[in-house]
Amino acid sequence: MAVVGGSIAGSAFAAAAARLGAERVVVLERSPGRLEDRGVGICTHDDRFDELVRTGHLAADTRRHRLTVRRWVTRGPAGAGDGPDGRGRVLWDQPFPFHSHHWAGLWQSLRERTPEQVEYRLGSTVTAVGGDDGGAWAEEADGGRHPYDLVIGADGYRSVVRAAVCPQAAPEYAGYVCWRGSYDDALLAELPGGAAVWPEEECVTVCYRGGQVVIYRIPGLDPGRTQVNWVFYAPTPGWLRLDGPTSIPAGTLTDSGLDELRQLAERHLPPYWAGLVTLTPRERTFLQPVYDLATPRRTAGRLLIGGDAATVVRPHNTSGAVKAVQDAHAFEQAGRTAGSWSALLAAYDRERSSAGRELVELGRTLGRAQVTAAPDWSAMDGPAMTAWWQHQLTGGGGFGGHALGRTGPPS
Ligand SMILES: Cc1cc2nc3c(=O)[nH]c(=O)nc-3n(C[C@H](O)[C@H](O)[C@H](O)COP(=O)(O)OP(=O)(O)OC[C@H]3O[C@@H](n4cnc5c(N)ncnc54)[C@H](O)[C@@H]3O)c2cc1C
Repeated sequence: MAVVGGSIAGSAFAAAAARLGAERVVVLERSPGRLEDRGVGICTHDDRFDELVRTGHLAADTRRHRLTVRRWVTRGPAGAGDGPDGRGRVLWDQPFPFHSHHWAGLWQSLRERTPEQVEYRLGSTVTAVGGDDGGAWAEEADGGRHPYDLVIGADGYRSVVRAAVCPQAAPEYAGYVCWRGSYDDALLAELPGGAAVWPEEECVTVCYRGGQVVIYRIPGLDPGRTQVNWVFYAPTPGWLRLDGPTSIPAGTLTDSGLDELRQLAERHLPPYWAGLVTLTPRERTFLQPVYDLATPRRTAGRLLIGGDAATVVRPHNTSGAVKAVQDAHAFEQAGRTAGSWSALLAAYDRERSSAGRELVELGRTLGRAQVTAAPDWSAMDGPAMTAWWQHQLTGGGGFGGHALGRTGPPS
């Protein structure tokens, strides 16, 4: 079997395929470098994480940072409105049973559970895939075309495999971007009040007219270290080209791009959080447009897609990584009971397609409520925030991802 993409979904699918007894599993990953160096934060809901440990996909000792509360704040009235520590006017303290991860820690946990016979081929770019009910093939950038029993597309939101499974499905731009950044939290000492005014277990959401910034700590790459991680939802910068799905990788933002981010932070955020964002080094700052993608189906012939290749859910859901590993779990479960390739592929498609579409819808709802049609934050308080949040979840839960094995509409 071949798995295209060796990130979160790819590693989970490769491990699942090996556990199903596949003789040979090859992971074809475009990036030539160490995947461990990808520096982003990912949060997982505690219940979803525990399920993935119980079902053998993640190690219980995966490095993670405990979060217990999500504090929603906004800029206070001029003067002393942002409080003595400059952290803003508190709108609501929401219980938040999540842990945060460094992307690399989550990936390592999946990778360590991947049996040795799985071969990772870094620097292998797949340019085309195809096949029929009898087998599949993948063509690589060097022109070589290789046959496989099954090709799994775990190649993210610009998936080559999806183009073959359902050519009509393409990511839709949500109308706003997220700037992202992370750095060692020792740097917080440069802020008035330092790190001490921000409790370790607090995830902060700073709300402003036009967007929000979500800020939390994540484990550092080295044991014992901690990093700051933030995601800044904002209107589309005038210079961003959107004629194809695109992002601006870390280290490549221009001086004027970074200046725009600094101005956004200083104009909209309470001083402590504006300072935290502007401390981010250029090489740790990047930008990603936000997309939605739901596919009408996930399989065609002996091709299958999972993770972001199959559904892209706006990050407000905090569910993408969990969803990717759950896709691999569903594939493994289908493989244990199906008597044929066609039965396996049909069972996987049935199990995961509607769950993916529901999460995409919830992501759109959260995005509207929190970014594009957000309330007047200056008029909000605890009870208003609670009602506003409940309203977003009406019609379907799934914040942080659905429970494994849930069938039918959410209660
Ligand atoms: C701002 C932001 C915040 C997020 N926060 C969270 C969060 O808190 N919690 C959460 O659960 N999720 C979060 N997510 C979502 C989460 O990161 C993804 O859903 C998850 O990592 C699944 O990714 P994936 O493995 O499917 O795809 P990707 O991580 O995109 O991996 C695709 C892989 O395929 C490779 N590839 C692509 N094309 C080819 C090709 N042609 N040939 C070979 N290789 C190829 C790429 O190099 C890459 O390694 C967030 C996303 C964003 C944008």
